Formats: sequence, C-alpha cells, structure tokens
Amino acid sequence: MTKSKLSKTLKDTTLASHVGRQPDDHQGLVNVPVHRASSILFPTLAELHAATMDPARSAYGRTGTASTFALQDAIAALEGSGGATVLTPSGSSAISTVLLTFARPGGHFLVTDAVYESTRAFCDLVLKDFGVETTYYDPAIGAEIAGLIRPETTVIFLESPGSLTFEIQDVPAIVAAAKSHPDLVTILDNTWSTPLFFKPLGVGVDVSLQSVTKYIGGHADLMMGSLTASGTPLKLIRRMVRRLGLCVSPDECFLALRGLRTLAPRLERHQANGLALARWLEALPEVSRVLHPGLESFPGHDLWKRDFTGASGLFSFVVEPDADVAAMVDGMELFGIGYSWGGYETLILPAHMKSARSVVPWDEPGQVLRVHAGLEDPDDLIADLEAGLSRL
Ligand SMILES: *Cc1c(COP(=O)(O)O)cnc(C)c1O
Repeated sequence: MTKSKLSKTLKDTTLASHVGRQPDDHQGLVNVPVHRASSILFPTLAELHAATMDPARSAYGRTGTASTFALQDAIAALEGSGGATVLTPSGSSAISTVLLTFARPGGHFLVTDAVYESTRAFCDLVLKDFGVETTYYDPAIGAEIAGLIRPETTVIFLESPGSLTFEIQDVPAIVAAAKSHPDLVTILDNTWSTPLFFKPLGVGVDVSLQSVTKYIGGHADLMMGSLTASGTPLKLIRRMVRRLGLCVSPDECFLALRGLRTLAPRLERHQANGLALARWLEALPEVSRVLHPGLESFPGHDLWKRDFTGASGLFSFVVEPDADVAAMVDGMELFGIGYSWGGYETLILPAHMKSARSVVPWDEPGQVLRVHAGLEDPDDLIADLEAGLSRL
C-alpha cells in the first residue's frame, strides 16, 4: 500500500497527489479503478467472518470497496490528527447522520445561528419530534458558550464561517468550554474551508464534516458528504452509518478522488478570484458591504487570520434594499443562477436572510447576494459584474 510508505511530514498539496493510491494493487494504474460490488466472495467462512469483523475491510458492497477506502484514506490524511473518514451520500446526510448519532430523548443541542439551512431544518423538523431540544447560539459567542451548556447537552454544532454571511467563530474557545464536559461532542461543518484552509481536528473539534459535493468534487457533478473523527465518536458514527444502511457509489468515489487530486491549486485560484471580486466590489458606492473573511474590513477578519490558512471562493455582498436584483442576476453572462458551489464555474444567488436566523436577526438594510467565484479569468468576471450592477 502506497499510503503506509508516505513520510509523515508531507505538505497537504503533496498528500493530495499521493494519498489513497495503491498502484501495486491495481496493475500499476495511477488511479484506483472503479470497484463495483454487492457480493464479495471469500474462499472460506473463516475469511468471510474476519473481513466482516474488521472495520478496515469490507465483506459487502454496502460497507465499501477499494474505491471507497481510497477516498476515505485521502480525506482522512488531509483532515489530519489521526482521524478516519466515513462517507455519506450527501453533505446533508452527513449532517443528519452525525446529529442522529448523538441525539438522545430529552437531550439538548447547541447549534450556531448562522448554520446551513438544512442543519437547522433537521433539528427543528425531525429531531424535535424525537424529544431533542435545540438552542441556537450567537456565532460570536466564544467562551461564553459555557453558560449555555446543560447536563443534558450532547452536541455543540459549529459552522465557521457561517452560511450566507460568513461569521467566523472562536473555535478554540468553544472547544475549550466543551472539554470540561466529557460526554459532549463538538461537530464542525468545514465545507467552506476544506481541510486545506482549516483543520478542525487539529484544534480539538471531535468531528469534522464536509459536503464533498462542493470543493473536493469541484466540478458540479457529484453529491457526497464526509465525517472524520477518531475514538468513541468515530465508533458511534460508523455504527449509525451501518444501521441506517448508508453507502456511496464507487463511481462517485472515483470522481471525488479525481477532484481531490487538484483541490490545492483550484482552491488557490478560487481564493484569488474571490478576493479580486470582493476588493473590486468593496470600492463601489452601490455596494454597502462585502462579507468576506479575507477583507480587513470584515468583523471576523482577525479571527480568520489567526486560525485559517486561506479563504475559498464563496462570499456575499450587500446592495440597496430596493435594488432590482432580479434584473442584475437574470442578465449575467458568466455568473450561473443555481444552488450549491465549489465547482469550477462562477455562481450568484440572493440570500434570504429573514428565515435564516433566529437568535441574532439580520437587520441590516439591503439585499444579500452570495457569489461563488469560479476559476474563470477575474477580468471577465469583473466585466460581467460591472454590467450587472448597472442593471440594479
Ligand atoms: C451544501 C452544504 C451542505 C450540504 O451538502 P450537500 O452535499 O448539498 O447535501 C452542508 N453544509 C454546507 C455549509 C453547505 O454549503
């Protein structure tokens, strides 16, 4: 196995090219081929039993093939801290699976108010009916989260930067408050950063969650999620994934691995394009604010500088309350109108802030537009934006 031969000190960019490949096991092929399976055959009952009992092996298609294991190993290596990765069919199913894993009747969750919409919906529309209470907290709460932790609190859910408006959380302070409660699990949705720009496990978070759909997939053509953890949380997550019967297709794993190989240079370009667009927008009179953690003007900028090694291509900007946003967006030449992000192509969407917060209302006048900066030439993107803003 190539992975075990890799030195421990390699940088992420190098790891992304090398982890999860086993050419010696696959006739020398650079990429692990697509291994499709339901039944897997063993020469003896004893060997079938051994494979069934070993979490690093598989005795059935649902528990993975070489394609699954290659992607899991590659994501785990980038997440670092000795964690292991479990894959789920989408980022949203990673969220529901991990929340179910730590849900108890009469239990209590603490969830950031800037959380991704489908995380909030799972807490409010599903877990509530099973007797789990969710308290949303101000993403800027920091160490004061200690005051919200109850004896029955089982989860603190973080997302930093927050969805739509990019609030940066003081993750180390929240983790420190959680550590005095041994049964409390911290989970961080790290989709915006990917493990290349922030490593949750490295600052003591128990579970790092990603929508692989976004930057790891990178080409707007697959759906997947990942959960990376170690110790008891990992054991419990694996059990839940197995009991729910979740699995991912080997074809999707192949595509996700192909995306992961170029993650580092793509992210650099997403970062450069995002910052170029954000800086250009910030100077315009018709733009009241740009919400991008990499801008010095952004309230969370200092925390971002302290804890992150980069910014991806997703950010927002605010325009006048009565601006004709539809006229701008509908007429864009290069900016696509659609959900999701993380692909090579640039996107733009209005964000509906009223329903997105319950503790810290978004009461700033103006309309929020979210941009995903793709890999195009920034001059072309700026020209398209400039023409769009003139239609507002
Ligand atoms: C898109 C997204 C998800 C959900 O991922 P899917 O793969 O679309 O289900 C979760 N968290 C964040 C922050 C996201 O942007």
